[in-house]
Amino acid sequence: MSPWDLAVVGAGPAGTTLARLTAAAGARVLLLEREALPRYKPCGGGVTPKAWPHLPPAAAATVRWRVAAADLIYGGRSVAMKARGAELALVMRDEFDAALAQAAVAAGASLREGVRVTGLEERDDGTVEVFVAGGPSVRARYVAVAAGALGAPLFPGRGPRFAPALDVELIGDGRIAAVTGDFACVPVGYAWTFPKRDILSVGVASWAERPGGLPAAVDGYIARMGYGGLPVRIRRGHRIPVGGSLLASDLVRGRILRVGDSGGFADPIFGEGISYAVASAVAAAPAVLAGDLSAYPRAAEGELLARFRKLAGLRRAFYGGMGAWAAAVGHLPALGGAALGWALSR
Ligand SMILES: Cc1cc2nc3c(=O)[nH]c(=O)nc-3n(C[C@H](O)[C@H](O)[C@H](O)COP(=O)(O)OP(=O)(O)OC[C@H]3O[C@@H](n4cnc5c(N)ncnc54)[C@H](O)[C@@H]3O)c2cc1C
Repeated sequence: MSPWDLAVVGAGPAGTTLARLTAAAGARVLLLEREALPRYKPCGGGVTPKAWPHLPPAAAATVRWRVAAADLIYGGRSVAMKARGAELALVMRDEFDAALAQAAVAAGASLREGVRVTGLEERDDGTVEVFVAGGPSVRARYVAVAAGALGAPLFPGRGPRFAPALDVELIGDGRIAAVTGDFACVPVGYAWTFPKRDILSVGVASWAERPGGLPAAVDGYIARMGYGGLPVRIRRGHRIPVGGSLLASDLVRGRILRVGDSGGFADPIFGEGISYAVASAVAAAPAVLAGDLSAYPRAAEGELLARFRKLAGLRRAFYGGMGAWAAAVGHLPALGGAALGWALSR
């Protein structure tokens, strides 16, 4: 069989977006996902406005809740912030990612679920051989590693650094409707609540040099917020790439490229990764279609990586100054609204 134009490893926001865009432009695309869809992904499911112009309409249909306000908690004090003109959309990742995968298939990509990719090897005939567990290998002219935080072993080169995170889904009754961020419960990090009707996504992440104690931090947060009586649906640790820890030159090796978490694309301060996974795929698609992968690192540098490095330099000051910031927002609510609007739409 003739090789695929592109094989994409992983059907998260990065892989499904790259598969959809390239298939829609006429490429023969194979999307390989190790799990059966829909599948759970540890994630708050907060999607910021910058993602939506690049997402298919079916993704919008999975939004469970939209908020333009958040409560900032610091040291037991809570201040309300209301953004003007920007909303956070809240999704369940199983529903959202399944809709993205269906849109890729509708655009012409072939999806194989329950297929775990175990290795990649470039061949002299201008193809990459893709090895899968328990089955025959496949060949493609280009391969995109979009396997999230698990993608590092597949890519021939150093991987991004990661921050640890913990996701807890609680079964609520729909009455808790506020997005909340507590910035004093872990060093260089925060705990959050993202309400999604009957599900309450709670989590914690830390960018500290030696992060530790995340389970105790999230338990303390759950108790302080009064969620202690809610049944736990799932509780799982995972990792968020530290944005800015890879260079543009780390993104491509020969005929293999990496996008999304596998390429280190996440906001270096908040860990937002969905919109950046999509943006990295948007940057990569024209390079794949033109058969010139070197165009991808250039696009990613200009649109994403330069900004990540600047924000990474501000991370310590951001978290270190949070106490003073919470006090200032308490006196000047408009300041908090402006900051929340900036955080959602920048
Ligand atoms: C606790 C937590 C909370 C978060 N909250 C938010 C949030 O609220 N908002 C936000 O924007 N970001 C959030 N993030 C970050 C966000 O989840 C990621 O940045 C985003 O999912 C990255 O998308 P991706 O497509 O690169 O990878 P993923 O979404 O991880 O998708 C990768 C896919 O590849 C598959 N895969 C892995 N290995 C293989 C293999 N060998 N073969 C085949 N398939 C494979 C996986 O099964 C998976 O389906 C959070 C992260 C964590 C850990």
